[in-house]
Amino acid sequence: MFSFQSVDAYHQQLQQGTTNCTQAVQFYLQQIEKYKHLNAYTEVYADEALQKAQILDDLRKKGAPLKKLHGVVIAIKDVICYKDHKVTAASKILQNFESLYSATAVQRLLDEDAIIIGSCNCDEFAMGSTNENSVYGNVLNALDTTKVPGGSSGGSAVAVQADTCMLSLGSDTGGSVRQPADFCGIIGLKPTYGRISRYGLIAYASSFDQVGIFGKNIDDVGLLLDIMSGPDEYDSTALPESAKGIYITDLNKDQDNEKKFRIAYFKETLFHPSLDEEIKNTILKLIEDLRKKGHIVEPVDFDLLDYVVPTYYVLTTAEASSNLSRFDGVRFGYRTQADVGDLTEFYKYTRSEGFGKEVQRRIMLGTFVLSTGYYDAYYSKAQQVRRLLTDKTKLIFNAFDALIMPTSPTTAFSIGEKSADPIAMYIADIYTVFANLTGIPGISIPLFKHSNGMPFGLQIMSNKQDELPLLHISKYLLKNYLKY
Ligand code: GLN
Repeated sequence: MFSFQSVDAYHQQLQQGTTNCTQAVQFYLQQIEKYKHLNAYTEVYADEALQKAQILDDLRKKGAPLKKLHGVVIAIKDVICYKDHKVTAASKILQNFESLYSATAVQRLLDEDAIIIGSCNCDEFAMGSTNENSVYGNVLNALDTTKVPGGSSGGSAVAVQADTCMLSLGSDTGGSVRQPADFCGIIGLKPTYGRISRYGLIAYASSFDQVGIFGKNIDDVGLLLDIMSGPDEYDSTALPESAKGIYITDLNKDQDNEKKFRIAYFKETLFHPSLDEEIKNTILKLIEDLRKKGHIVEPVDFDLLDYVVPTYYVLTTAEASSNLSRFDGVRFGYRTQADVGDLTEFYKYTRSEGFGKEVQRRIMLGTFVLSTGYYDAYYSKAQQVRRLLTDKTKLIFNAFDALIMPTSPTTAFSIGEKSADPIAMYIADIYTVFANLTGIPGISIPLFKHSNGMPFGLQIMSNKQDELPLLHISKYLLKNYLKY
């Protein structure tokens, strides 16, 4: 039977002829069928994936060299465009809408001969932390189907967790890759803002959004980052310097186990009342162990912790209210069938029927914070806090290689546990939004297992554009501290 360890090992097997791409795709299609009840996919491109696998198998027979993602089976979140395939953002307002072009991220995967196997369920317009806000229904956590997989990229996380693909793409505006990775026991990377082009990623909050990667080993995640990153003429915020070469030249080398890291942590994050005791104690113990091994691990004061969630929700809802104004039923997407009197009524009906509750809540909140009387009190103030956070970040990374904190205050919640209380749901984003507010890269790595049986990860952040050290530290920790 086909089994996957890493892209590198898979390519070796292909070269040796012990497996082929068709077998790989067949295996994943069986897995998708087996785990259908988890509801991780919104669409599966079975025939297409098999055809592509056959083409690649034929190419190899002719002796063609393998491209970097030759036959690598990848799933993508349903907010990322793939030409001539549906992209719906798990919303009724985009039901049956087909992408007119491929996202740059997707195109770069295809250019390296990846096989896209399907699109993944998510919270509507990537707004949520549990995948309970999807027009396609909940996604279930494969480790315990009474639990949520996290969100908003819950389908992409479960797709990797349940071995239905090798790697997957999500998007992370405030934690939507790291938090589901944490809840599902896999790796989730949010790169530096701008590292991967946002062209073809349906916008939630443009100054926060970033394509992210789910996988089961760091080398593969680094490989995908390497391939998708780099400047893009269609996204002016895409960084000119690319992460190119991360995988090939450095990450893949044997690691220097003697290297000592300088790691910071915010005391306030570990002693926050919302943090599960066991998660706190586990991380405190890890800090002690790291010190014993000669690493520098120091607390840094951070008195802004209680402001990060409000700041995030003011700014992202403001941006969302503007971004989502394009869904008006006129040019594309869902259109009301109601017999309406005028254009305003038409918009009202279309958007009330087309958007789910959480999306409507955020559009209204965003419209409110941008309104004339409240702009300064909320939007401008939040921008100022964002600035303070960015300044703080610079200071930290002058002295440290990395910043660690929990990814989430608890392990995966039960389905329905927080869905009636939006504030409780928002507060749980306390540890992930910092990286998006400041634009730094963050990763969640599956180090631990809770006594309740669920996994939890450690979140690590580094300076802007320092994905390479981030991946190195992650690899080191996974090698030396994996307890899950
Ligand atoms: N949970 C956060 C929110 O609901 C994060 C979403 C995201 O990163 N897309 O906004």
